Amino acid sequence: MGFCIYNNAAIAAASLAAAGERVAIVDFDAHHGNGTSDAFYERDDVLYVSWHQNHLFPGTGRVDEWGSGDGLGWTLNMPMPEGATGEHYRRSIEETVAPLVESHGSTWLIISAGFDGHRKDPLTDLGLTSGDFADITADLIQLVEPGHRLAFLEGGYDLEALAESTAATVGAIVGEKIHPEVPTHGGPGEDALAVVDILRSRFLT
Ligand SMILES: [Zn+2]
Repeated sequence: MGFCIYNNAAIAAASLAAAGERVAIVDFDAHHGNGTSDAFYERDDVLYVSWHQNHLFPGTGRVDEWGSGDGLGWTLNMPMPEGATGEHYRRSIEETVAPLVESHGSTWLIISAGFDGHRKDPLTDLGLTSGDFADITADLIQLVEPGHRLAFLEGGYDLEALAESTAATVGAIVGEKIHPEVPTHGGPGEDALAVVDILRSRFLT
């Protein structure tokens, strides 16, 4: 729908799944990954997790889009409010994403690493910094074994923020803590994640 020709993350996940692996795609790009979601919406071998700015293009990624058929429960959408900070992303990894990846039995992690959630990005209104991307990535790669982690560069439309965020993320992947900017705390985000947990626990039991 305008941002990609080839969906690298989805192609990689489909290839791994065809080889018998179970894959978790975790997408922190500020836009909902509607193509990736569609590709695996009815499958249980590929878990799709997305944080994205609520009501942003393409408008999909509601909390209650949680998969169907064999895929029921294996899509997790966390629509975040404008200004959401890294603290809330990291807390949701610990409280929601990690348990879901464990119950899925994911053997591979694919990060859709879009950096347009940076607070300087001209297209979006989230509140993240390059330091947040480092810490979020450091948390995410703990979810699977070393050697089974991939990250694909997705969005990012402020070139300085993109460069710093990419460096910070690559640093986290190789075990170097690179914080060009301090991570963010507080602010909005907690309520949105509480809604996600309440709805999923009520309707996905
Ligand atoms: Zn994006």
